[in-house]
Amino acid sequence: MGFRTALADPVPAIWGLRLALFCLVFHPGCRPPPATAAQTRYLMGTLVSVTVAGTDSLRCVRVVNRAFDAMKRVDRMMSTYRPESPLSRLNRTGHEGWVQLPPPLFTVIASAWEYARLSDGAFDATVGPLVRLWGFYDKQGRLPDPTEEAEVRGRIGYRHAVLDSARGAVRFDLPGVEIDLGGIAKGYALDQAVCALRAEGIKAATVDAGGNLFLVGGPAFVGILFPGRDDSLAFRVEVENEAVSTSGSSENSFLAGGVRYSHIFDPRTGRPVRNTLLSVTVVAPTGLASDALSTAAFVLGPERGMDLVEQTGTAGAIFLQEDPGHNGEFRSRISSRLRNRIF
Ligand code: ADP
Ligand code: MG
Repeated sequence: MGFRTALADPVPAIWGLRLALFCLVFHPGCRPPPATAAQTRYLMGTLVSVTVAGTDSLRCVRVVNRAFDAMKRVDRMMSTYRPESPLSRLNRTGHEGWVQLPPPLFTVIASAWEYARLSDGAFDATVGPLVRLWGFYDKQGRLPDPTEEAEVRGRIGYRHAVLDSARGAVRFDLPGVEIDLGGIAKGYALDQAVCALRAEGIKAATVDAGGNLFLVGGPAFVGILFPGRDDSLAFRVEVENEAVSTSGSSENSFLAGGVRYSHIFDPRTGRPVRNTLLSVTVVAPTGLASDALSTAAFVLGPERGMDLVEQTGTAGAIFLQEDPGHNGEFRSRISSRLRNRIF
């Protein structure tokens, strides 16, 4: 029985779900290029690996460094962990008046607002105060008290920010509004890395940033693993010059009173998402799209999340869902664009 058949049936959850991705790169019919270079660094709160294939070893190493430089620039601009980043400055002063932003930051915020509209507010980068309140910034997950929750909820909502595209400036209509680009900036950083690689003529590479991956070249199979079982493949998806992102509740979450609270918030309830989804993997032409869509679809749940992905016309998704009738098992749903690309 091939995996495609298995997808129609519940898959034993004994494997558990892991959000890491790994890449098996095959270039059928091609001789492997004579040189490769690979590096892993800690960046954007996760391990990031860049692997490049080319014709000259020294050049490959130089190009890998260029890709990291591009991602470092994104991190410096868009991290909320860096008080000196332009995003942190906007969060401190955006309620006082217009803040002019570096163009890449404005571009990512404008895209985040586009996804907010497309997803009917499920993707909402103003979740910053919630991420802080529930302890995810300092990795000390905690249940907030209801008064704090009510106060913070009043500052959430993408309509609290006004974007001026002509000037590349943003302002907030309230003090305490905070933009968090954690659901989209990593994908954008991948795109920037890929841009740097392509500018150097690279035709085969992978950039892998903890649950977000871009494959330059291909076709190749990207394997999605189950959690806690690094050797267990849930499925393989065929990818070519595309990005793959997975969002889910198992990686960054905490347990309280027997309930798991995840770092992905439902902006409509102001609380961590609680639905039957274990994860959503999105394949899209850009890292930004796959990153934003996987987060948005996770918030929306299997039905509306699938509609959102199908509506893009370019992205595909795999939803892994608990199967309440079958203890310890789950089901997968596959969007139309991926149906023939899952193995
Ligand atoms: P990861 O960052 O683990 O790859 P995601 O891409 O799904 O996972 O992003 C989750 C992050 O996005 C959270 O840590 C938070 O910073 C931010 N976030 C949480 N909820 C939302 C939401 N509803 N809309 C947009 N961003 C969100
Ligand atoms: Mg995301």
